[in-house]
Amino acid sequence: MTEHIANPPEDRPDDVLVRAMGSNQTIRLIAAQTGGMVETLRKTHDCGPLGTMAVGRVASAAVLLSATLKGRQQVGFQINGDGPLREAYAIADADGRVRATISVPRAELAGDDIVLGAGFGQGRLSVTRQLTDEAPYRGIVQLITGEVAEDLAHYLHTSEQIPSAVSLGETLDASGVLAAGGLLVQALPGADNAVLGPLIERIESLPPVSEYFARGGTPSDLVTSLMDDVEILETRPVNFVCPCTREQFARRLCTIGEEELRKLTESLEDTVVECHFCRTEYTFDKEQVGALLYGARMYDKAD
Ligand SMILES: [Zn+2]
Repeated sequence: MTEHIANPPEDRPDDVLVRAMGSNQTIRLIAAQTGGMVETLRKTHDCGPLGTMAVGRVASAAVLLSATLKGRQQVGFQINGDGPLREAYAIADADGRVRATISVPRAELAGDDIVLGAGFGQGRLSVTRQLTDEAPYRGIVQLITGEVAEDLAHYLHTSEQIPSAVSLGETLDASGVLAAGGLLVQALPGADNAVLGPLIERIESLPPVSEYFARGGTPSDLVTSLMDDVEILETRPVNFVCPCTREQFARRLCTIGEEELRKLTESLEDTVVECHFCRTEYTFDKEQVGALLYGARMYDKAD
């Protein structure tokens, strides 16, 4: 898809997220280079091209939304559709750690065209912001195109009342992900229409964001090329990280209840549970499942 690759995947630049402001703090600019993360997701979930685009774009969208998070805050970005991909879900935190999953990684469409919107079909986008230890804030909108960028812009405008331009994409070849990333530009209160017009023209004249990165451009280059007075506030690394642990899955087994757990101890097979985000399999033999029965009784009592 791309004629010239300045940084082939072997010496791929580190993934990075840049947060900047322009025009007297009235324009927020966020750019993320995510090719390494999306390639890791492709391999982890053994995705076909459509699945790679889906999980990559959802994960890159979560990265863009994570740019304003602090401390232990995190954001979830989920698309559920009636198309063959069904569901893709990503979580990103304030330290640039991202995990993502897809329900049908090798989904295919009839015909030769790979169209992400057709892969998701009709459905909805939900964004979950966990900003405090209290209940998370969740916003839901219907999908507009299923191409993710337009859907995220629509969500930010209607659900969070922030006019936003979003670009997301990835460049793939038969060997995998050559480049991926995203750009989010937001007009904050007080933004001047005289600034917005030329800015939107500039964004629309850009090459696709993954092509920009595939040709050697960086997120800093990208945001500073959009306006004259851009100040870069922060640069964060972006990495695929799954924080799952065996203890977490043992606790989850307890929640299925004493009766179900007892059935597992009577089964001839070991019990294997898989993390949907990193595909790690945790195996519990009969003795180990039996040891969880006390915990399951506690959960049953709590019901
Ligand atoms: Zn995991």
